[in-house]
Amino acid sequence: GGILDRLKLDRSGLRLETPVVHAVNGVSFKINRAEIMALVGESGCGKSTVAKTIARIYQPTAGEVRIEGQDVASFGFSDLLPVRAKMQMIFQDPYASLNPRQRVRDIVAEPLLEQTKTANERAEVPARIEQLLTRVGLNTEHAGRYPHQFSGGQRQRIGIARALSVTPGLIIADEPVSALDVSIQAQILNLMKDLRDEFGLAYLFISHDLSVVHHIADWVGVMYLGFMVENAPRDVLFARPRHPYTRALLSAAPSIKTKRDIEEIVLSGEVPSALDLPSGCPFRTRCPFAWDRCAQQRPHMQDVGDGQTVACHLIDEPERDSI
Ligand code: SF4
Ligand code: MG
Repeated sequence: GGILDRLKLDRSGLRLETPVVHAVNGVSFKINRAEIMALVGESGCGKSTVAKTIARIYQPTAGEVRIEGQDVASFGFSDLLPVRAKMQMIFQDPYASLNPRQRVRDIVAEPLLEQTKTANERAEVPARIEQLLTRVGLNTEHAGRYPHQFSGGQRQRIGIARALSVTPGLIIADEPVSALDVSIQAQILNLMKDLRDEFGLAYLFISHDLSVVHHIADWVGVMYLGFMVENAPRDVLFARPRHPYTRALLSAAPSIKTKRDIEEIVLSGEVPSALDLPSGCPFRTRCPFAWDRCAQQRPHMQDVGDGQTVACHLIDEPERDSI
C-alpha cells in the first residue's frame, strides 16, 4: 500500500480569526513508498497549505489524510507522537527552522527523544546522532556547535538528519532548496534521493521551481489557486503537459525547454484571490483558450492515460486547443 494512502482535501485550509486563507479544493493524491511526489505552482497556490495540512500543522476543515491506512485526523493535537514518527517536515529556511540556541546534537536528537520511552533507548541516542550526522555528510566533531556556525547547505543537512532521526516513512519538504545557491541545491537534492533509495522514504516535495522538480520528482502535481489542475509521472508531464497552466509554466522555464517542443503560452493578468474564486475553471481569467463553458462549469480531474490526470475542458473539446 501507499505510505500516504489517501489524501482528499475539500475546502480545507487554515482558519484564522479572519476568513480561510489559502484554501485548497478537491486536491487528491497518493504517495507510494520510495516515491517522490512534487507539488508545483506559483506562490499562494495552496501547495504549502496541503503540506501543512498533511503534517497536521493546519487542521483540515473537510477532507481526509490517511497515512499507512490510518486517518491522521483520528489523532488529537495533543497526541501527535505516532504521526510524527511516520512523517517529518523539512522547511525552506534552515536558518529559521533550527533553534539558534540549541547545539546541533540536541536539535537532531529532539524528535528522537520525544519517541524514546526507556532508559535503554535513551542511552542509544548519542550513537544514533553520530550515525545520522555522518550519513548526511556532516562532521560529527561539530555536533556541539550552534546553527549559525554552519553554512546554509550544512544547515539543511542538519534539518534532514533531524527529520531522519525517527525513521519516518514520509518526509514533507517545503521548498527545501530554494534558499540555497544552485550549486548547493544539487548536493541537497542528491542527498535526498540517496536517502530515498536507502530507506525507501517517500517525499512530498513542495517547490515553485520546475528545474528542481524535474531533477527530483517521480510524480508531479500542478496546483493553481488551491486546485490541483494536473497530476502525472514526471516524464509524462514534462514531455506532454496538457493543462494550459502547466504548459505556460513549462514554456517559461528555459532550462528544461529544450526537452520538448511546446508552444509558448505567456500568462497575462494577476492570480485572482482565493477568497474570490472565478466561476467555473479557476484558471479561466488567465487562460488563452477559455470559452463560455469555462465560466459555467468547473472542470474535474480526468484520466487521460499513462497515469496523467488533467482538469481542463479542452480534454473533451480538443479542437479548441490552438491559439
Ligand atoms: Fe482554460 Fe477552460 Fe481549460 Fe480552464 S477549462 S484551463 S479556462 S481551457
Ligand atoms: Mg509556500
